[in-house]
Amino acid sequence: MKRIFHSLRFRLMVVLFLIGMLPVLLVGSVLVRSSRDRHVQSRVQEYQYQCSTLATQMTRAGYFSSAEAQTQLGQRLDLLAGVYSGRAMVVDRTFRIVKDTYAIDEGSYCVGAPVLSSMRGRVNSAVDSKEQYAQFSIPIYSQNNQDAVAGVLYASASTAGVMEIESSLVARSSLISVALAFVLAAAAYLLSGVLLAPLMRIKEEFAGAAEGSKTVIAEYTSTETAEMSESYNRTLARLNQIDASRQEFVSNVSHELKTPITSIRVLADALISQPDAPIEMYREFLGDISDEIDRESTIIEDLLTLVRLDKSGQELNIEEKNLNEMLEDLLRRLKPLAKRRGIEMTLESARQVSADIDVVKMTLAISNLVENAIKYNVEKGWVKVTLNADHKFAYISVQDSGVGIPEEEQAHVFERFYRVDKARSRSTGGTGLGLAITEDIVRMHQGAIRLVSTLGEGTTFTVRFPLHYVA
Ligand code: ADP
Repeated sequence: MKRIFHSLRFRLMVVLFLIGMLPVLLVGSVLVRSSRDRHVQSRVQEYQYQCSTLATQMTRAGYFSSAEAQTQLGQRLDLLAGVYSGRAMVVDRTFRIVKDTYAIDEGSYCVGAPVLSSMRGRVNSAVDSKEQYAQFSIPIYSQNNQDAVAGVLYASASTAGVMEIESSLVARSSLISVALAFVLAAAAYLLSGVLLAPLMRIKEEFAGAAEGSKTVIAEYTSTETAEMSESYNRTLARLNQIDASRQEFVSNVSHELKTPITSIRVLADALISQPDAPIEMYREFLGDISDEIDRESTIIEDLLTLVRLDKSGQELNIEEKNLNEMLEDLLRRLKPLAKRRGIEMTLESARQVSADIDVVKMTLAISNLVENAIKYNVEKGWVKVTLNADHKFAYISVQDSGVGIPEEEQAHVFERFYRVDKARSRSTGGTGLGLAITEDIVRMHQGAIRLVSTLGEGTTFTVRFPLHYVA
């Protein structure tokens, strides 16, 4: 039941129904009231007209002096009052009531304001619709002198009878309203269905998508559904892309992990197939096997690092660190590696720079760049690390005199497992994950990394990140 009240279609239906019903109710009540007023008015007029006619007849017949006229016209007055469920009285010049259709006040006096006014020749009529009551007073003239008022015909009537007519009218109009309400409810039901049809179709499509359907939605019948379709399609495209890259990553990982194992297997098989192989051969092959195992564990370590960085909600262990010190430590650690290839490493820094960083992660990121600068360098080449800062950002650049990266490959070097020269990378122990890790770490520090490289001349990677980390 609660579901119905929360349904958009139900709410729309109610709104449409109310909008349709409001004028019906308003017009109905206005019509009933005006027709009632008209009824009351015409009935009162009729009564007054009849009384006026009777008053004229009383004048002509000399009502106050003729006993015969009194009986005859008195009977007619009774009849008239009866027809209109009213009361009528005849008051003579001395304000004495000579005739009362209720026969209770005859002989008493009536000096009400309307009677007084009519004694002066005026006709009065008043309708009190609240009290459902109408009254009027009409002068009766002397038979001989048409200017002299001889008495007053004072009549009153209840309009309640007319109200009864009204209630039958109300019943009729309510019946019409109820019939109209049914028609309106049906119309509101149909109209809400038509209006919400595109939305319903999108809902079906979404349900299909939840079950794995990968078809795009093309519901362009309204601006809103067109926008919904487009955002859904964009989301779908992104999900497909994520799916594809995840599959690619998994297949790359499998491939990378298999390569050292295949090598180990080939080396081991070679030794098994030669039972009397010389000890030197054993030593050499086992050395190679050991290298391959090292490679395998390097790949696994890099993968674990990436997975840890990828974990959502991964916290950075931020602290304020002097970057000059960090870089000096880092270069000291890598010195032996550079020395092996006769590469000269320098650190250039105009001033002391401190920044909010996760020291372990940032050291790893910059180490990867410096290691690459050594690995993909020429014999006796050089590596220059520069540290700089402005009021907002720290800049660390790693420049080398190495082999360079072809222009068309530059956009891809940050992808996982991407290597420009597979053989060279393999021989230097590369996994193709180093730059992906570096980029992840720099991004986590709200920074950016870019590279400039000329083939055969060298490469410069520049990392930029804010001095103050804001979570
Ligand atoms: P790897 O473990 O293979 O070094 P990286 O992700 O660190 O993986 O680098 C990706 C590829 O980018 C490398 O295989 C290499 O071809 C190229 N590359 C990275 N740094 C440099 C550099 N300083 N000079 C030339 N090529 C580089």
